[in-house]
Amino acid sequence: MSLKRILVTGGAGFLGSHLCERLVAEGHDVICLDNFFTSQKSNVAHLLGQANFELVRHDITQPMWLEVDEIYNLACPAAPGHYQYNPIKTMKTSVLGAIHVLGMAKRCRAKVLQASTSEVYGDPEVHPQPESYRGAVNPIGPRACYDEGKRAAETLFMDYHRSNRVNVRVIRIFNTYGPRMHPFDGRVVSNFIRQALQGEDITIFGEGNQTRSFCYRDDLVEGMIRMMNGPDDFIGPVNIGNPGEFTIRELAELVLEMTGSKSRLVHEPLPADDPTQRQPDITLAKEKLGWTPTVPLREGLQKTIAWFRSIDIRHYRAPTPNY
Ligand code: NAD
Ligand code: UDP
Repeated sequence: MSLKRILVTGGAGFLGSHLCERLVAEGHDVICLDNFFTSQKSNVAHLLGQANFELVRHDITQPMWLEVDEIYNLACPAAPGHYQYNPIKTMKTSVLGAIHVLGMAKRCRAKVLQASTSEVYGDPEVHPQPESYRGAVNPIGPRACYDEGKRAAETLFMDYHRSNRVNVRVIRIFNTYGPRMHPFDGRVVSNFIRQALQGEDITIFGEGNQTRSFCYRDDLVEGMIRMMNGPDDFIGPVNIGNPGEFTIRELAELVLEMTGSKSRLVHEPLPADDPTQRQPDITLAKEKLGWTPTVPLREGLQKTIAWFRSIDIRHYRAPTPNY
């Protein structure tokens, strides 16, 4: 395998740090670019001593000038609480970030992969969701800064490909969990595990009948790398996620059982536009990439719970106001 210079934007985040770890282990020259809005240096501190790893503090809404062979564009807050914190900045991160990495890819003749999302399907009327489904997104709701930002980024990727022949890839990531999720990101897996371990109430939004399909981070990173290295005539978008679908109540009960916690289940109001169901149709990923997830929810949760038990939660902070 040839060694490449690879840029990972958002490389210090939950998924980005695992991706960097894999690429560094394979011997590539990896540049991790991040503004640390939703992450901390501790996620990549163990890579800093490696000669083939470099860390750049930079905000993707500003242009950057680098020479690379491949770009994984992950920079964007992903948890609802994080992306709604400064919604205008979230939209800028998706759109200006896409323009900046695509411009760089055009100049360097680099290949560039976009981390898109199942949120492009909004609150879906088609179940499970195939890539051909065009979605039902509320363009003016509180999730729109993220959903529409990611949709616009997909448009830019396809237009740079059609107009400028940039070699692109687009993956649509469904809910992914695992070690190094931010303990205060408010996402359902991190919230429930933290609440269970701290003996706090477990907060189910609404009745808990809404569903999500949970993919373990190692499976996701494997799918992402396969897509980057796949044939040039398959640019996506492709769904990457685990079709195992659970109600939020089922997840809460599983976390209680696996942690042995005595926390109570309590109900809080359902946030606006919260999708009622979500499950990826992964036929395309299976056919084109030979990819299927391998880690069942119970096994992935076991590793995630072990990691949450191992960290000192005081080292994690909520986003700061000046981002
Ligand atoms: P994360 O919040 O842990 O990682 C995002 C990283 O991007 C963080 O390190 C953050 O500091 C950085 N970032 C944010 N804005 C930036 C900016 N303007 N400039 C530079 N860096 C910036 O989230 P994650 O779960 O690791 O998500 C990674 C990517 O995958 C995101 O693009 C997200 O939209 C996408 N995704 C994730 C999931 C999931 O379930 N984890 C699902 C769908 C899509
Ligand atoms: N959720 C919940 N309790 C929490 C956090 C989230 O019931 O403490 C629900 C949320 O309303 C949604 C689902 O869990 O229906 C997944 O939420 P998350 O923020 O993880 O991701 P989403 O898929 O909504 O972007």
